[in-house]
Amino acid sequence: MKFQRRQVLKAAGGAAVAYGTPLFSLGDDPSRDRRALVIVGPSNHPPGTHEVKAGGRLMADCVNRLGLDGLSAEVSVGWPEDRSSIENAATLVFIGDKFPAEAVKNRQQAMADVVGAMSRDCGIVCIHYATGLEEQHVAPYHAKGEQHPLLTWMGGYFATRCKHHKSIARLMKATIEPTAVEHPILRGWQEFKFDDEPYINNYLGPDGLAENVTPLATSMLPPNDPTEQITAWSVERKDGGRGVGIVMPHYYRNWLVDDLRTFVTNAIVWSAGFNVPEEGCRTPKPELAKYEPDAIEPRRKAGGY
Ligand SMILES: [Zn+2]
Repeated sequence: MKFQRRQVLKAAGGAAVAYGTPLFSLGDDPSRDRRALVIVGPSNHPPGTHEVKAGGRLMADCVNRLGLDGLSAEVSVGWPEDRSSIENAATLVFIGDKFPAEAVKNRQQAMADVVGAMSRDCGIVCIHYATGLEEQHVAPYHAKGEQHPLLTWMGGYFATRCKHHKSIARLMKATIEPTAVEHPILRGWQEFKFDDEPYINNYLGPDGLAENVTPLATSMLPPNDPTEQITAWSVERKDGGRGVGIVMPHYYRNWLVDDLRTFVTNAIVWSAGFNVPEEGCRTPKPELAKYEPDAIEPRRKAGGY
């Protein structure tokens, strides 16, 4: 699917009114546990790439450093044993190789946990490969004439090795541009350039972008045959929940990109139903070693990444 700029702006502009209105705001539901739960799924990517545990800790730290009244973040490496942490979360943030609820050993229970959370308007954010579904994940739904529920929860996904759609993962230099819409997630960051693996030709549904999905960032990719690609998007679900897909970063070192960090942190805060500060959720440049990655810089291996 090729995506034209005017389609992006048209689709995005249609629902602009809704963006400034929080689903719920601080104090209107004191019983709610306002926690962003970062769930780290499995990964077997080489050191310096994906670094899902360190990336998960870093994202949680970014949220906690904001000092927002009522919102904190915690990390679960692996699927949470204490199910109440999912039941009480304001948003679930996923990092891992493939959508973690489909990638963990006990996927049936994990998917049931997410179904439960989504049915009570919990937010969801997936980062890079956690936006990914394979044929084995989508086929059971397609056989019944249905879509994988991640499409509804998050508004799209990275369809990797799927029959119905072929998203593309490739290391390349990219310029990530915020779209021209008013959206809290776009506060406080600007266009940025980096060397990464922003997925392209992401799957946004059988009819393309749905009405309740907003493109947040685009990029002209791939460099040798560029078309406008949606590299991040958000959804306001009919059940009231909010979802965000951001198909980067691949390299752990790219968490040093201030604009990307603000973008991701804004997404977490917004998905939890909180107001994003006007200046955006800016955090100091992180000390990457503090989050205990296997490596900060990628070690090039035969066969690439
Ligand atoms: Zn990657």
